[in-house]
Amino acid sequence: MTDSTQVAIIGGGAMGCAVAYYLAKAGVRSTIIEREGIATQASGYNAGGLNPLQGAGIPGPLSDIAAATFKMHGDLAQRLEDESGVEYHHKTIAFVTVAFDDSDIPDMKETHDIFEAADGFDAHWLDAAELRQMEPRLNPEAQRGLYAYGNAILSGYDFTLALARAAERMGTEIRQGRAAGLQTAGDRITGITLEDGELACDAVVIASGPWSAQAGEWLGVSIPVEPYKGEILRLSIGGAMPPYDFSGGGANLHIRADGLLWAGATEERKGFDRQPSEYARHTLMKGATKLMPFLKDAEIARHTACLRPLTPDWLPIVGTAPGWDNAYLATGAGKKGILLAPAIGNAVADIITGGDTEVPIGGFDVRRFE
Ligand SMILES: Cc1cc2nc3c(=O)[nH]c(=O)nc-3n(C[C@H](O)[C@H](O)[C@H](O)COP(=O)(O)OP(=O)(O)OC[C@H]3O[C@@H](n4cnc5c(N)ncnc54)[C@H](O)[C@@H]3O)c2cc1C
Repeated sequence: MTDSTQVAIIGGGAMGCAVAYYLAKAGVRSTIIEREGIATQASGYNAGGLNPLQGAGIPGPLSDIAAATFKMHGDLAQRLEDESGVEYHHKTIAFVTVAFDDSDIPDMKETHDIFEAADGFDAHWLDAAELRQMEPRLNPEAQRGLYAYGNAILSGYDFTLALARAAERMGTEIRQGRAAGLQTAGDRITGITLEDGELACDAVVIASGPWSAQAGEWLGVSIPVEPYKGEILRLSIGGAMPPYDFSGGGANLHIRADGLLWAGATEERKGFDRQPSEYARHTLMKGATKLMPFLKDAEIARHTACLRPLTPDWLPIVGTAPGWDNAYLATGAGKKGILLAPAIGNAVADIITGGDTEVPIGGFDVRRFE
């Protein structure tokens, strides 16, 4: 193992691995420093949804980068599995939203209009009979449905691993250990202090997810990222999978590549608590059984809890760290980090290698919080 690297990346989640991947493509040798393991935090336990048309900041300041990164995911899907040897189950899907009463309709109408207007996407309404024909196990109280096509999904864990493996094959090193501080000379970072030594570097990338604020303290820069807890139940349903992802009545049910039906996700501010909770188990099962009553007999095969890296305005932090020549930030992607990883990874690699990027990251500089 070498004691120096061109770029030291702190964090082996989707962000850190994407930066390493695009740096490696540009011929830059980097080292990912990860204290637990690749994709052992949110990047390994998310829902893997890539909806580029909706969410905090979409439509809005996140729209352009969401569209760009969605397209990049499509391009990556053509080659990253070969480059890495890791299958990560990227595919285009449809989802169905269910209304139990009229109060659900305005949000569904918004989804309808957004999906109908976007290239490559589509939506149409379903009446109660069509809904029941589509999925007879739906709650008979469901009144109306919306079928929306064009979104994509993947396995977040496998995708992150694929980025890491592909980068590794191109020369990236993955080093297990905790970054404990930075070494500096003037306005340059010269190395990373590790628990078991030091790693000299020409540049550093902070990609440590909800723990990024700590790295901010080392830099003397406020990086306002807080942990936002999310829990998911993976259900073994003992029967055929529903034909599509379904949501409504407070539940989101996702068909995923592990053959389980995922019910998620909770959203809570609970500090760095990563324990699966009784509250989440109860809330998610209540929603799931309202939508599909037969799920009361489903077995909870897995219950996961992890932390989204959330900023005060729910937009990511991408770019240079103020006051430093060679420190870069790739963090704070909140509920959209898997969607945004290719764009942010590419943007940060561009900035490191060429000082600028064509990826639309305007508005995501950390200086907006000053
Ligand atoms: C329940 C849930 C569902 C989600 N669903 C979706 C979805 O459908 N679509 C989507 O796009 N996004 C989704 N997300 C969000 C997405 O998972 C995150 O935005 C993304 O994984 C964040 O990636 P990251 O690399 O920034 O952080 P992380 O995955 O947290 O990675 C940061 C890494 O840094 C390491 N680290 C921290 N400090 C140090 C240190 N000092 N030294 C060494 N290593 C360190 C940590 O161990 C960790 O592995 C979901 C999140 C949750 C919780």
